Formats: sequence, structure tokens, C-alpha cells
Amino acid sequence: MKIDARKLMHEQVIESDVCIIGAGPAGTTLAREFLDSGVSVSLLESGGDKFDNKAHQLSKGTLSGELYEPLESTHLRQIGGTANNWILQMTDNQYGYRYTPLDEIDFEQRDEVPHSGWPIRKADLDPYYARVQAVCEIGPYQYSAEYWAKDEMFTLPLPPDKAYNSVFLFGPTKKFTKDFPAQIADSQNVNICACNGGRVTFK
Ligand SMILES: Cc1cc2nc3c(=O)[nH]c(=O)nc-3n(C[C@H](O)[C@H](O)[C@H](O)COP(=O)(O)OP(=O)(O)OC[C@H]3O[C@@H](n4cnc5c(N)ncnc54)[C@H](O)[C@@H]3O)c2cc1C
Repeated sequence: MKIDARKLMHEQVIESDVCIIGAGPAGTTLAREFLDSGVSVSLLESGGDKFDNKAHQLSKGTLSGELYEPLESTHLRQIGGTANNWILQMTDNQYGYRYTPLDEIDFEQRDEVPHSGWPIRKADLDPYYARVQAVCEIGPYQYSAEYWAKDEMFTLPLPPDKAYNSVFLFGPTKKFTKDFPAQIADSQNVNICACNGGRVTFK
């Protein structure tokens, strides 16, 4: 079910077994796991169906460390979250985004990379990566260039100790911006509580 947060009473309490904050790719994917599960879920979103500058201003903040684009340019406050910024044109009227898993080396401790070294390895994430492939309907969990090489898709002859071929897989943006939110809005046990055109404080 979809609830317009602006129509809630002041201090109204919404009770549920699980509360998920934010209806971006992470929140909607998680909420979707509970569809028809018998577990009641509230998915709270600070934005609404469309971009709204008032809600979006909440993304403003100060960056420290590595310089990057301002937070309000890289974080969208609306249903679908920052996926609304995924605008790679896949076909005439379909936009999409790139998928690729982290590499083994991303988990390792490296002297030249401050704070590097994770307590888990890529192998620990592999079963979850494989599951996400199915959720996003982007085919087999295969990111080796050799697996996909055929006809016009070929691998480059690179020196193996210096570089290697890899691939991105592409999937449609609307999975997160339209399909998953619609499935959640249709459900009986998962509520998406969003703020269409304004800002609401969730405690
Ligand atoms: C231009 C651009 C292109 C990108 N392209 C790719 C790509 O091709 N492939 C890729 O893998 N990644 C890409 N990314 C990165 C990707 O968008 C993020 O990694 C992803 O959106 C993170 O998902 P998320 O659900 O964690 O957060 P978000 O997408 O940021 O969603 C968070 C949601 O939570 C809501 N929220 C935040 N705080 C609160 C609160 N207190 N109460 C209620 N709601 C709240 C926000 O309104 C928002 O809807 C791109 C990013 C940008 C900016």
C-alpha cells in the first residue's frame, strides 16, 4: 500500500514488524523481499514520486576526504532514490545502468590505500551477488570477458600481469524507479510511506 506521509496526523504512530528507511535501490529491493511474507513492513521515503526541490535540499551536506561532486548532485530524494539519475540510453526509450561486482583486490589490505582491508572476502559476497542478478533480471552472474566473447564482442590482447578484460552488464533503470515501487504499492503487508511534494520528519 502507498501512504502519503503529508496526510498522516501529527505524531501519528505507524506500527510494523520491520522499518526500512529510504526507497532507493537498496530499500526497495529489501522491502520487496518481504512481499507476501506475513511480515508487516514500513518503507519510509523522504521524497515523493517526482523530484521535489524542498525534499531534495535535505541531501545537502559537507564533503570531507576525497573530493567528489556535491552531495545534492549525487543523491536524489525521491522514490527510486539516486536510480532516477541513471540515464544511460540502452534503447530508444529505455534508460539503464551498469552492474559489476567488486574485485578481489578491493577487499585486500593495501598499504597505499588508507583504511583498506575488509573482514570479508569477495567469496563471501558471491552468493548474494548471484541472487541480485536474478532480482534485476540481468542474466547469469558472469563478469569474465572470456565468457561473453563471441562475434563482435572480443577480448583485447592485454599483458596479463598488467591489465585484464572485464565487462559491465546493463539493466533497466525503471526496475528501481517504477517496477519495484509499484509492486510494493500493490502489496498488503508492505507499506511505502512517501512524501509527495514536501518534507516530513520521521522519528
Ligand atoms: C549520475 C549517477 C550515475 C550512477 N550510475 C550507476 C551505475 O551505472 N551503476 C551503479 O551500480 N551505480 C551507479 N550509481 C551509484 C548508485 O546510484 C548508488 O550506489 C545507489 O543509488 C545507492 O542506492 P541506495 O538505495 O543505497 O541509496 P539512494 O539511491 O541514495 O537512495 C536513498 C533513498 O533514501 C531516502 N532517504 C535518505 N535519508 C532518509 C531519511 N532520513 N528518511 C527517509 N528517507 C530517506 C532518499 O530520499 C532516497 O530515496 C550512480 C550514481 C550517480 C549519481
